[in-house]
Amino acid sequence: MTGSLAPNYAPLPVTIVWGEGAWVRDADGVAYLDMLAGYSALNFGHRHPVLVAAAHAQLDRLTLTSRAFSHDLLEPFADALAALAAPAVVGPPMVLPMNTGAEAVETAVKAARKWGYEVRGVAPERATIVVAAGNFHGRTTTIVSFSTDDDARRGFGPYTPGFRIVPFGDADAVRAAIDETTVAVLLEPIQGEQGVVMPPDDYWPAVRAACDDARVLLIADEVQSGLGRTGTTFACELWGVRPDLMVLGKALGGGILPVSAVVGRADVLGVLTPGTHGSTFGGNPLACAVGLAVVELLATGEHQARARELGAHLHTRLRTLTEAGLIARSRGVGLWAGIDVDPERMTGRELCERLLKQGVLAKDTHGSTIRLAPPLVMERADLDLALDRLAVALV
Ligand SMILES: *Cc1c(COP(=O)(O)O)cnc(C)c1O
Repeated sequence: MTGSLAPNYAPLPVTIVWGEGAWVRDADGVAYLDMLAGYSALNFGHRHPVLVAAAHAQLDRLTLTSRAFSHDLLEPFADALAALAAPAVVGPPMVLPMNTGAEAVETAVKAARKWGYEVRGVAPERATIVVAAGNFHGRTTTIVSFSTDDDARRGFGPYTPGFRIVPFGDADAVRAAIDETTVAVLLEPIQGEQGVVMPPDDYWPAVRAACDDARVLLIADEVQSGLGRTGTTFACELWGVRPDLMVLGKALGGGILPVSAVVGRADVLGVLTPGTHGSTFGGNPLACAVGLAVVELLATGEHQARARELGAHLHTRLRTLTEAGLIARSRGVGLWAGIDVDPERMTGRELCERLLKQGVLAKDTHGSTIRLAPPLVMERADLDLALDRLAVALV
């Protein structure tokens, strides 16, 4: 350790030098199974050959133009992503490419506010957006303004006004928080950072109805839940609900580079006219080449099917651990699970340290909760190996 690195993370004591599929290695050649998958940025595993090939080919041709000019992959990427998302959002959708998840959330917030003033007729400077307690939407000053996580928020004021926080999973609270100033409801379909917290089954349909009744936009932050993780292409499809805008990121960059986008209603994204919003790197040729390859991987449905099958197996095995008294409870869907350990037994951090010694990488979220989000390409035998090691680490 040289002391030059800012201390905004407390990583587990492992230094990774190589990765392939669901496996990584450290400098000593010790192998680990990756059960975090870059917080779902690595849905297709480390160095997926199709994605790496797309990136290599693009690196040898064109990497950046800025949006001052167009390039030959910008529209094909937008068309392909719009086609993938079309069944899942109110459409036909448009695509606005950005880089990180937080930037795409900011883009959705800006579009919703401008739409609210210009189309819905909300009084100037009065727009409100309803969000959920326990949310995680990124780290910008506006986004942490409506976080309920003290660590994420404290010390970063003055905070951006215009957000109303209601409990997650309570559709009546959403309906009650909406008034004539409300332009949007912004929610994660399932709260990933909070520990893969699932809402009740009637939540999303009821929130959709509340938004429709009040002519308010429904914005789904699918940055972590989207792109195959839940066994559907987008988590909102689990409940058959189509948001007006969907925010994508993480896996959209194939674990190679940051790629994000807002996908949704043309009349909403259409308020972002030239000069009102932009990004130097958003929609760059390399990002579009990788993003296009990601969309093509998802278009076959093969990864979603894998997430469903392996996910069912994962949740069955986690229930066995609960019945054996080794974990307090588990929840989730697809290849995505939150596990609560009895805090008397150990903290989430301790469990992750034990898992590390067993050759499994996982990350605690809050207190005694850890999240499992293995790459969707993981072999079934490797998933079993990771779960065997989890059982050992818990004893
Ligand atoms: C990770 C995440 C973000 C932020 O993405 P960054 O690329 O880290 O800015 C936003 N929303 C959700 C749901 C996330 O999981």
